[in-house]
Amino acid sequence: MIDAAPDLPALAEKLEAWLEERREAHDALRRPREAFEERANAVRALQRELFDAGFARVGWPEALGGLGGSVLHRALVLDRLSRAGYPGRFLLEHLEILPPALAAHARPELTEELFLPTLRGDILWCQGFSEPSAGSDLAALRTRAEETREGFRIDGHKIWTSWAGWASHCLLLARTGAPEDRHRGLSAFVVELDTPGVTVSAIRQANGTDELAEVFFEDVQVPARNLVGPLNGGWAVAMHILAGERGSYAWLRQAHLLPVLARLAEQPAAAGGEQALGGALVRLLAVRCRAREVLEILARGEQPGPESSVSKILIMDAEQALYDTVQELLDADLALGSADSAWEWQEGYLYSRAASIYGGARQIQLNVIGKLMVRSGESVDSRVRGDEEAQQ
Ligand SMILES: Cc1cc2nc3c(=O)[nH]c(=O)nc-3n(C[C@H](O)[C@H](O)[C@H](O)COP(=O)(O)OP(=O)(O)OC[C@H]3O[C@@H](n4cnc5c(N)ncnc54)[C@H](O)[C@@H]3O)c2cc1C
Repeated sequence: MIDAAPDLPALAEKLEAWLEERREAHDALRRPREAFEERANAVRALQRELFDAGFARVGWPEALGGLGGSVLHRALVLDRLSRAGYPGRFLLEHLEILPPALAAHARPELTEELFLPTLRGDILWCQGFSEPSAGSDLAALRTRAEETREGFRIDGHKIWTSWAGWASHCLLLARTGAPEDRHRGLSAFVVELDTPGVTVSAIRQANGTDELAEVFFEDVQVPARNLVGPLNGGWAVAMHILAGERGSYAWLRQAHLLPVLARLAEQPAAAGGEQALGGALVRLLAVRCRAREVLEILARGEQPGPESSVSKILIMDAEQALYDTVQELLDADLALGSADSAWEWQEGYLYSRAASIYGGARQIQLNVIGKLMVRSGESVDSRVRGDEEAQQ
């Protein structure tokens, strides 16, 4: 139990001691589960315990009920959980991505209401950006928010919305200006998904998991206080989220994948595959170093420039290379279902193919890196908000 953010080595020591103390009690929480609902329940049960013991509040501002410290504290907690054998964060991935943007852009009373229940995993989030005709070209989105006397009325259609089937709240990007205003005519909103007029429709995925959904908004009334950032100022909120997503997500993902690689190396079929395993390890360690630099930028309260897209490229390549190695080494065992937990390897392999799409596709990251490098004389703020980056 902690009630203030210790320095990083002390946090590591306290967390490791707590995890050791809870080891037997957490056997069920660490067990890989094929049924998605069981995974969701396990990850939420762990989050509540982490919150009550202080480890889910460390790294967040004291003014919002956190225990102080920085994103480096949160990164350490995630790293130690993965090392201790806990499965991925699944529907809690948004915890690293949305709360920093809420804290920076939402009205204080809205942030205060949502922050601690979010950290405890009681409020679950989804991110409603992409639409059928607005993915990479996010500034083309058409979901409309009309101002009314009480707030806003929202009509539109989002797609590829991760965890929408589980979420209670959506951070939505909608058009409040004219279509020709592109990214300057967008606003961000918090929408509660049980509001009348919201319909969530699951998308069946190739890997069998229940992550993705379409979300339809029909005459959905949202109070004015749920506007995040200024009217027509949603692009800055979206860029804050995407820069954080590309940066801190890379850390989260490598922390999850290093133990996967260690488990692969233990498979009997991996004997003789030292070179491929070594190659996968080097890629993951490169991501780890790079992602750590981005975390340090975030910890200083700055917004990363091209660094977060570099991390995103490195992690997508590392994840796909790791699962190419899985396929190379376990091929027959996977096909016959005789590999230890064959479903996990198969699910991971298929998900790794999406790594070069979500959070901004590979080509878009390369565009962002190239453009920001060319314009490196300008301030980061003007660079991340520029017209040319009207892509996710
Ligand atoms: C697993 C997963 C989870 C996701 N979760 C979410 C979520 O929670 N919320 C959300 O809002 N969205 C989510 N998405 C959607 C994701 O952000 C989009 O799929 C992504 O931005 C690409 O958009 P698109 O699918 O419309 O493809 P398109 O934009 O149509 O792109 C198709 C191809 O064209 C390339 N391309 C497009 N424009 C250019 C260009 N200017 N230069 C060079 N190449 C270009 C792309 O790189 C890509 O290869 C998720 C996607 C996946 C796969």
